[in-house]
Amino acid sequence: MTSSAAATAPATAGASAWVTVDAGAIRQNVAELLRRSAPAEVLAVVKGDAYGHGLVTAARAALAGGATWLGVAQLDEALRLRAAGVEAPLLTWLFPPQADVGAAVDAGIDVTVTSPWSLEAVVAAARDRGRPARVQAKVDTGLGRGGVLTDWSGFVGLLAAAVAEEAVELTGTWSHFAWADAPRHPTVRAQQERFVEALAELEGAGVDPGLRHLANSAATLTNPSAHFDLVRPGLAVYGLSPVPDLGAPADFGLREAMRVTARLTSVKRARAGQGVSYGHEYTTGRDTVLGLVPLGYADGVPRHAGGRGPVLVGGRTYPVAGRVCMDQVVLDLGPDSHAEPGDEVVVLGVGAAGEPTAQDWAEAAGTINYEIVTRMGPRLPRVVVGEEQ
Ligand SMILES: *Cc1c(COP(=O)(O)O)cnc(C)c1O
Repeated sequence: MTSSAAATAPATAGASAWVTVDAGAIRQNVAELLRRSAPAEVLAVVKGDAYGHGLVTAARAALAGGATWLGVAQLDEALRLRAAGVEAPLLTWLFPPQADVGAAVDAGIDVTVTSPWSLEAVVAAARDRGRPARVQAKVDTGLGRGGVLTDWSGFVGLLAAAVAEEAVELTGTWSHFAWADAPRHPTVRAQQERFVEALAELEGAGVDPGLRHLANSAATLTNPSAHFDLVRPGLAVYGLSPVPDLGAPADFGLREAMRVTARLTSVKRARAGQGVSYGHEYTTGRDTVLGLVPLGYADGVPRHAGGRGPVLVGGRTYPVAGRVCMDQVVLDLGPDSHAEPGDEVVVLGVGAAGEPTAQDWAEAAGTINYEIVTRMGPRLPRVVVGEEQ
């Protein structure tokens, strides 16, 4: 190890902008989700680099908060967790016929089967190895996305045969909602009823469905009747509200785990009538001070939020002036600003602390908070705080 200053300096030293991930918030959010869903267990969804928060950091924090399972979309994400030494039960649900399912079986990853071909692929890998593979079965109860949609009865027969042959151990059976964020939508009840029927069909064929699970964040928070044996929250783990019309994170006992901070790289006077940023979509209405925030769409700041996205500078929030560029945005700080180059500004963070939120940015860009945090790019250094000693 070198003892140079560079080796011991924090990742933010000299940085233009960075993402702070609060592992303590993730831990406490999972504890809150567990409190709400117990006796059901919590599977924390850490796909998409843990919604931009960092796969391994978030996985460890979620487990420390009481999650007993982790979930990812892709096989490679699951393998990366195993390579990092994460040994918790781990579910994955998205792979093409060309995937190396055997690698997942070897790593003790629970693979979701969603069709006859995917079940056959896992059975073949298990036969090769001479030991059962851990699988979960996914029924499409109405989302119209992954899972067995039209021939569940036939699929139950294939599952029963694979279990009888001891090629697979069925550790769970699950489905996913289309409208969980609108708890009274009629599809919610219909999907739940269809799920219960599908489980009964499995049991009728003498197959134990294993852990039954259906609830994402929205259903975990708003629909206890959908909790079954395990809940599967993603967004709420990171302290964001999946139902912003029904409540902010704090209303659900959650706290945002991501803060995005930048340092002003220019502060200068401009005359009234000065066009700002590409295409001059904003023009100063008076003599003023312009501040330059070194963060743009290459970092995940949505270009659609031009003219609207909020940034906190010295206790006040300013909308982005004009277009979002690849690496920077401009703020009109007003004639009396005392901002200086190097001042730290908050692009998004904790709403209850008065900071702009991912939800604010989502509304400014016409999208959802999921996309805002997940897209915060790899160019931004990640700083983790609040990890257990
Ligand atoms: C992403 C995902 C989740 C988590 O959804 P949130 O709305 O983020 O809680 C749960 N289950 C499946 C299958 C998913 O793809």
